[in-house]
Amino acid sequence: MRVAVINCGSSSIKYEVFNTPDLAMLATGLIEKIGGSESCLRQRKCRADGTFKEQSHTKPLADHYEGFEFMASVNKEDRIVKDDSELVGIGHRVVHGGEVFREPTVIDQEVVAAIRRLIPLAPLHNPSNLLGIEAAMARFPGIPQVAVFDTAFHQTLPPWAFHYAVPSAWYTEYHVRKYGFHGTSHFYVSREAAQHLGKEPESVNLITLHLGNGASVAAVQRGVSVDTSMGLTPLEGLVMGTRSGDIDPALHFYLMRQTGMSADELEKFLNSQSGLKGVCGLNDMREIIDRAEGDARAALALDMFCYRVKKYIGSYIAVLGRVDALVFTGGIGENSATVRSRICSGLERMGIIVDEQRNATCSGNIASIHEESAPVKTLVIRTDEEREIARQTIHAVKKAGL
Ligand code: AMP
Repeated sequence: MRVAVINCGSSSIKYEVFNTPDLAMLATGLIEKIGGSESCLRQRKCRADGTFKEQSHTKPLADHYEGFEFMASVNKEDRIVKDDSELVGIGHRVVHGGEVFREPTVIDQEVVAAIRRLIPLAPLHNPSNLLGIEAAMARFPGIPQVAVFDTAFHQTLPPWAFHYAVPSAWYTEYHVRKYGFHGTSHFYVSREAAQHLGKEPESVNLITLHLGNGASVAAVQRGVSVDTSMGLTPLEGLVMGTRSGDIDPALHFYLMRQTGMSADELEKFLNSQSGLKGVCGLNDMREIIDRAEGDARAALALDMFCYRVKKYIGSYIAVLGRVDALVFTGGIGENSATVRSRICSGLERMGIIVDEQRNATCSGNIASIHEESAPVKTLVIRTDEEREIARQTIHAVKKAGL
């Protein structure tokens, strides 16, 4: 049997197909430019020996429904999903579940309506996620569809961590609070870390660092998230590829008065022209590291990125009291020994002691990079949000007795 994982953008469908029950990945694909005359599907079929068979096709696709139709026909031809009835479920990544969704949820019309009501909280993401859900429900009517929310893992934050110190009516009437994102990744690596340490998730305290183009930190206490750096939106927290992260909220009013910029314009600047890109013109960490030697702006961007992460680690050590492991994941966290080393330097008195040789040479899905005697373990774990969504989809389908 098979399970499919879907992540929809406004004109794209990213998908993976997994075998069950072993969750081996069978295929991964991307359909782009939906709604245009040259929609394009690229798919990689995964062979057992680790190699891929790649194919790409171009043809007009009017909407996401036609996208799913195309995906199904390519998968049928390639004998990945020979018949729709082989699918035990379809898991959809949904960015914002608000306070309504604390766990993966089998989708019915009520769930669709609830996700729609959350659009004001995630106007950039939830509409595209819904587009995908509704098209998949129409194209695969008999197959259980499950929504897996980026916010769900952080629904365990205590009130003193999730409330902002603003008039309480803003929370009760407008749902203003910290939600946190990247939940599937923080959950996945925290489970992997516990297993690697030979402990139950309920017995470990972790600081998980998801450092990619988007970046966030979570404080995980006995298996549950108790604080995280992203907030009402993914803009809060760390310095990111193009997002500012933490800034003085009064900066908005000052700039609006000084420049005449509208709220929408300012929002765009803070989301897509700030962060690393705003500081040095580049948002790709590889390029920034390459240039940092002779380019003062790139060096500053790198310093700011690492400094902000270090500050969060310090504050989450205070939150957790005892930390068993620090976990690096995401494109930067998994691949940059330079960034890991800079973040951890100076934290030795807090028990975080990196072995530079291990740090420089680590590879594979999970690696320890701490010195043997270090009180806090430092791990590099390859995140796998898609496989986690597949696992949670199967679990939700079984739990619902479908
Ligand atoms: P993600 O959003 O998780 O795909 O991560 C993307 C980020 O990871 C980009 O900033 C990349 O430059 C960064 N990245 C990927 N590989 C490396 C590497 N070897 N060294 C530094 N940064 C990397």
